[in-house]
Amino acid sequence: MPNNQKRVAFHTLGCKLNFSETSTIARQFDELGFERVSPNSQADVFVINTCSVTEHAEKKCRQAIKKFIKHSPNAFVAVVGCYAQLRPEDLSNIEGVDLVMGASDRGNIPLYMGDASKNAKAKIYSCEIDVLNDFFPAYSSGDRTRSFLKVQDGCDYHCTYCTIPNARGKSRNIPISTIITQAQSIASQGIKEIILTGVNTGDFGRTTGESFIGLLKELEKVEGIERYRISSIEPNLITDEVIAFVAASNKFLPHFHIPLQSGSNNILRLMKRRYNRELFANKIEKIKQAIPNVFIGVDVIVGFPGETDNDFSDSYNLLNELKPSFLHIFPYSERPGTPASDFEGKVHPKAIKQRADKLQHLSYSLHSEFYAQNIGRKEEVLFEGANRKGTITGFTRNYVKVEIDFRKELAGKIASVQLLGTSNTGNLTAKIIKNE
Ligand code: SF4
Repeated sequence: MPNNQKRVAFHTLGCKLNFSETSTIARQFDELGFERVSPNSQADVFVINTCSVTEHAEKKCRQAIKKFIKHSPNAFVAVVGCYAQLRPEDLSNIEGVDLVMGASDRGNIPLYMGDASKNAKAKIYSCEIDVLNDFFPAYSSGDRTRSFLKVQDGCDYHCTYCTIPNARGKSRNIPISTIITQAQSIASQGIKEIILTGVNTGDFGRTTGESFIGLLKELEKVEGIERYRISSIEPNLITDEVIAFVAASNKFLPHFHIPLQSGSNNILRLMKRRYNRELFANKIEKIKQAIPNVFIGVDVIVGFPGETDNDFSDSYNLLNELKPSFLHIFPYSERPGTPASDFEGKVHPKAIKQRADKLQHLSYSLHSEFYAQNIGRKEEVLFEGANRKGTITGFTRNYVKVEIDFRKELAGKIASVQLLGTSNTGNLTAKIIKNE
């Protein structure tokens, strides 16, 4: 394919890890002289980074691919990501797809494009499970406010509902020294906030003999990065040392995202999770004690096979007692090839919906309560760029969304504010006390 076909478009589905990887692939195309265009416009090359965490995610991937092919029938279409890794044929059989790349080779699309040609049968590369141990270093750029920095990949846990270990391989990471170099490169672009991302982020150090806390301590020293968020961490990997470090740190923010999945020990056993409800509760209490006004987001699955009304009540009551700040609710989605797909006691879709709705109501009230608790407090906000109907928004250290009248000079800047009240958008209003 001649290099003068300069327009390339990207579309990413799924997690922060996928966004960091697409952004890294995009920089490769920049270096090859391609012009980046929006996925809604004509392009010569499309790269779609897929997700396979739920059936719905896979459906959205197929729809996105077909939409692109429809509006750019001559484009070269490359599909990467977890869905490509797990079921390459599903994607290579879509007419118009030219290249399907497995997880370990997602960094080599330009390389393989030469082999594949338009209108020939789609080529499939590197989707064999045993090659899944390379590490593709990645971080997102282009957003002036924050960057997703990939510090870990893969997972050695085998929760019975999850396909991610099959899609991303064993838990592995690059050395702290390499990550520090990437963080310095992000800082040199004027970005102030980094979100540490991975599949099982807290399991960092598995392949280098280093530790997660060791990584956090080195990152804190990087000049120019003012803020770090830990994207998600397993409850059993939240050590007292990590809690104490975040509590004392100016840069690691009072914000945790912790998967619970179920508040029933019976269901946690069936899921093969590595903690019970008592350990989870203990971690939440320790974090809240050590870090005032901390934001805690919690993942929970409803409708796992075998989940009774009592099991669901265990989840609901535990969350109502612990009062995290927000719930990410996932109706159980059966994944091919997982042990749970053969489990008895499938829950009726109606019951799954009722349980999800009930938790949604709880999440809404927990989140409003958390926002209300912050009114009157002084906080620091990193303002984003966009002018949204005459306002500019940003997040406090403890992940409260704030909006004030638009001021261009605040874009990408950190300002001290007093939180005043709730606006009709649900964000908190504020007045600037001091800005950079
Ligand atoms: S910890 Fe469990 S749910 Fe999370 S990626 Fe690993 S296997 Fe999947």
